[in-house]
Amino acid sequence: MKEITPSSLEIIQIPVLRDNYIYLLLDVATGSTAVVDPAVEGPVLKELSERGLNLSFILNTHYHSDHVGANLALKAATGCSIIGKSASEEMIPGLDVRVLEGDWVSLGASRLKVLELPGHTRHHIAFWSEADAAVFVGDTLFALGCGRLLGGTALDLFQSLQKLKDLPSETLVYCAHEYTQSNGAFALTVDPRNEALALRMQRVREARKLGRPTVPSKLSLECATNPFLRTDDPFIKATLGIPHGVLEEDVFRHLRAMKDDFRVV
Ligand code: ZN
Ligand code: FE
Repeated sequence: MKEITPSSLEIIQIPVLRDNYIYLLLDVATGSTAVVDPAVEGPVLKELSERGLNLSFILNTHYHSDHVGANLALKAATGCSIIGKSASEEMIPGLDVRVLEGDWVSLGASRLKVLELPGHTRHHIAFWSEADAAVFVGDTLFALGCGRLLGGTALDLFQSLQKLKDLPSETLVYCAHEYTQSNGAFALTVDPRNEALALRMQRVREARKLGRPTVPSKLSLECATNPFLRTDDPFIKATLGIPHGVLEEDVFRHLRAMKDDFRVV
């Protein structure tokens, strides 16, 4: 008897611009295709034509131009629908379907749940496929770092990261930028005794030397090595001279401010 296989997404990572990643999602069972945060259209159209795919949806995590830059061109070229959470002050070009926390996006047999993750911007969202253990987080959580505060508050972003932390630990985090090496340089300064972090950074350096992506990363690895998910860690607090009893959200605020001023030399 033939077993019915669960939905599965093929995820194609397209590096563009200086350090952006675009993700092309293909529902293998039906050939349905979506693209997450298309900064530019050329490489997306090339990938689609090489694979003989048509684009059904654009999924936008937020309104910044390096995430929506190709919205109108791709819509004109493919007739796709654009899905995101728009607001008057954070406008997504060509938006067709406005989604909110808990909404589902169906891509063939695959389903992605919308998570609202304010902080980097006020209306930032992520798309999570539980069945495929994948979450597309835009500029909220980065490998070894997190997004800057460009619209939301530190408390917003702290709470959004806590929400991501609660996803299953084997979830792969697909962020929108290759920032891992510079994020890691900062992480090492605030968490110098973390062996898992030191080991990860060795691997990151090797990968980058070979021009390989360090994204996606497993959520469990982020929880073990990303200081922005480790605001309860006594060693980080001791390194920063933060006394016990300080609220985690305040540790986070402190870390975020330090990172804003941090320069890799
Ligand atoms: Zn952004
Ligand atoms: Fe970005």
